[in-house]
Amino acid sequence: MIVGIPAELVSGEDRVAIVPADVPALMKMGLQVVVEAGAGMRAGFPDAAYVERGVRTVASRTDVYAQADIVLKVRAAGADPGHADKERAMLRPQQLLIAFLEPLWEPRLAASLAERGVTAMAMELIPRISRAQSMDALSSMATVAGYKAVLIAAASMPRMFPMLMTAAGTVTPARVFVIGAGVAGLQACATAKRLGARVEAYDVRAAVKEQVESVGAKFVELPLETGSSEDKGGYAKALGDDFYERQRKLMAEVVARNDLVITTAAIPGKPSPVLITAEMVAGMQPGSLIVDLAAERGGNCELTRSDQIIVAHNVTIIGPGNLPATVPNHASQLYSRNLINLLRLMVKDGKLTVNMDDEIIRESTVVHDGKVVSARINDLIGAGTPVASS
Ligand code: NAD
Repeated sequence: MIVGIPAELVSGEDRVAIVPADVPALMKMGLQVVVEAGAGMRAGFPDAAYVERGVRTVASRTDVYAQADIVLKVRAAGADPGHADKERAMLRPQQLLIAFLEPLWEPRLAASLAERGVTAMAMELIPRISRAQSMDALSSMATVAGYKAVLIAAASMPRMFPMLMTAAGTVTPARVFVIGAGVAGLQACATAKRLGARVEAYDVRAAVKEQVESVGAKFVELPLETGSSEDKGGYAKALGDDFYERQRKLMAEVVARNDLVITTAAIPGKPSPVLITAEMVAGMQPGSLIVDLAAERGGNCELTRSDQIIVAHNVTIIGPGNLPATVPNHASQLYSRNLINLLRLMVKDGKLTVNMDDEIIRESTVVHDGKVVSARINDLIGAGTPVASS
């Protein structure tokens, strides 16, 4: 069987699905590998590094799709809507496609892969169980995003992060507030702390208090009854307008006392809850900064615009769209390992088995042998609805 690695097409998407160091792992599974020429270049992996490990490079993406039994990508279908139609046309029956597909946000685009008779697995749907941790690409990419958010902020702020005692006087440390202490939020806390900031964080899951403290940050206690804030898959769920209204009121003072606020509260497949209003922004000190990691889904700040930098009330609001792609070398290395670990479940001695009795395979498979098999996606599109190609 042949694994094909096409180049990514989304503008600014500099990651590659498989890095050269993971090629031996694929070969050990009995797979051969072809890569589109130049696919890893922007992530720092030239063709020669693949060729050295026994990979064949092919000149065109059409050739990759024509030769591959398994296509591994970073983005496809709903995660690359601009190229989804063209790419779908290149797929053929029995092929397996694994990528970020944005199936909860663009369920029809992911479901439309069924027309081609393929099996398509979405990395966003890997369940949050311990056995799947090494395959959880959302977590590994969130780690990168949390780290980079702090660096962007540090480079944009009019203040330094650490406390400095100099002959010219003492500089007080920057104050950083992180909203949402999941994977990205905790990494943001840790990175800001390493740079010397005084860091505090809040999450609706009170259980993360210990994790926040373990990276040297202070957990902000708010008198809010969150009840169950996770769905059964371990992801945050929407908590309702009344809850967010109370949260905003209680958080306004915390937001105002910080120089930098990093927001990370995303709800899978849903617009992000507004946790910082324009009025709260107006209450911040001039020169303060917000980095909104939920920008792609509308943002946690009312004034956020995805992929833009807005200045309002003398506060800068940055809404970066795809931060993992801005650290493509390490982001690709982590994503590649996530894919390898998933494939290890499915490939033995060069033979692919899509075992729907395995919870990880069942939950992450959107389309199998040309049918939409994901219960979550069928719920979203309405089971039995014919899926148009665009
Ligand atoms: P996420 O991206 O879905 O959400 C980010 C964080 O925002 C979450 O911690 C969430 O509780 C928080 N949040 C949501 N609404 C909020 C609000 N109104 N105010 C404040 N915070 C809010 O989550 P994530 O970072 O991907 O993961 C969350 C947790 O899930 C992780 O910390 C980890 O413990 C767990 N997890 C487990 C596995 C596994 O077992 N395989 C894998 C990944 C994550």
